[in-house]
Amino acid sequence: MLAEVISIGDELTTGQRLDTNSQWLSERLTELGVDVMFHTTVGDDLAANIAVFRAAVERADVVVATGGLGPTADDLTREAIAGAVGVELVQDEASLAHIRAIFSRRGRGKMPERNVVQAMFPRGSRPITNRHGTAPGIDLAIERPNRCSCRLIALPGVPVELFAMWRETVGPAIAAAQTERRVIRHRRIKCFGVGESKLEAMLPDMIRRGREPRVGITVSDATITLRITASGPDEAACQQLITPTEAEIRELLGVLVYGEEEDELQDAVVRFLNERKQTVAVVECATDGLVDHWLADADAESSRLLGGVVLHETASMEALLGICGMDPASAQAAEAMAQVIRERTGADYGLAIAALPQPAENSAGQELEDTLQIALASGKHVRVKEHPLAGHPAIVRQRAAKQALNMLRLTLLNQEFAEG
Ligand code: AMP
Ligand code: MG
Repeated sequence: MLAEVISIGDELTTGQRLDTNSQWLSERLTELGVDVMFHTTVGDDLAANIAVFRAAVERADVVVATGGLGPTADDLTREAIAGAVGVELVQDEASLAHIRAIFSRRGRGKMPERNVVQAMFPRGSRPITNRHGTAPGIDLAIERPNRCSCRLIALPGVPVELFAMWRETVGPAIAAAQTERRVIRHRRIKCFGVGESKLEAMLPDMIRRGREPRVGITVSDATITLRITASGPDEAACQQLITPTEAEIRELLGVLVYGEEEDELQDAVVRFLNERKQTVAVVECATDGLVDHWLADADAESSRLLGGVVLHETASMEALLGICGMDPASAQAAEAMAQVIRERTGADYGLAIAALPQPAENSAGQELEDTLQIALASGKHVRVKEHPLAGHPAIVRQRAAKQALNMLRLTLLNQEFAEG
């Protein structure tokens, strides 16, 4: 069963408001095992709305639209549906009584005449009760030659109203109408350490369309998420499909996998530190305190993060850490900072991110293309690693912080170095 979600309103197409209804509805439809294939957003224009509804009824078996059910002249959803299907609008007395009752109950006096339009429905449709507002929804089955009928649902745009209408009426109705019960489940596996093309090449034939279960790949600031999607009659059947694929991915990617679902690198690091009852302290030049901030968030309940120092000026390296005469971008400075912060805090690990090398003159606004030194001190050892960093400055900062956390994570995985 394929679905289309339609969002209606000039405030959406002009970018003044974010379309969150589509996201919410798509999650709900997916939970019910319905494949959402299209999202359409359309402004408050009758001809455009009619065209959108016609196309949706043609290509989807369930269409859920939100917005445009208010009483004002720019609310056109009722007319658009009637126009697309070729039926007239008829008044529903029960809905009219409900709208009048809302006005008197809320002390808003007599219902204005223009609200009568909210009780008008395309012939053949059923009103969907809206307990929280004056706009009832529309539920209309549209016959299609030689195919199953299309179920078109229109709901008001106000999120709290449509959420309640979905839970009370629409969701259960769609679930009940399904001939075979199907659910869809996802499993997200989080990876860090290689680019997406390289990672895809490590998973031969896995990210192929038509594979069951499906594996998708998305990247956000160098963190790669593999999403396994399975559908089956119930949760257990989905899990049965997902488990071997997840095991295969973990086997093929090894230490590139750092977690699952909502995990970030810092969550993996804090888990390891907790297991080992070890601690860390950080010095950050290139990352403006991002590592400290992320670790502190992940470490809210324990105290694995002993402290962090953020340096913006070379002079602070001497003032705060007593390290002088070194280029803050050098490997030597990174090593010294990692050792000093470890010794001064008594942490098991000292992690230091050096400064980015000074950009050449006249390069303002250009993309950074640099290398960054990250050092990790543990016991008697200190290791320094050079990372190539390229991209927009804002992205470089995030990547640098993730590289540092990943270095600590890999070290925590590798006990010899940790205990040396
Ligand atoms: P409407 O039903 O078109 O009168 O919309 C009523 C309210 O719901 C407006 O304040 C909209 O900004 C909000 N709204 C409409 N559509 C959406 C959407 N797709 N996502 C989030 N809010 C919306
Ligand atoms: Mg609107």
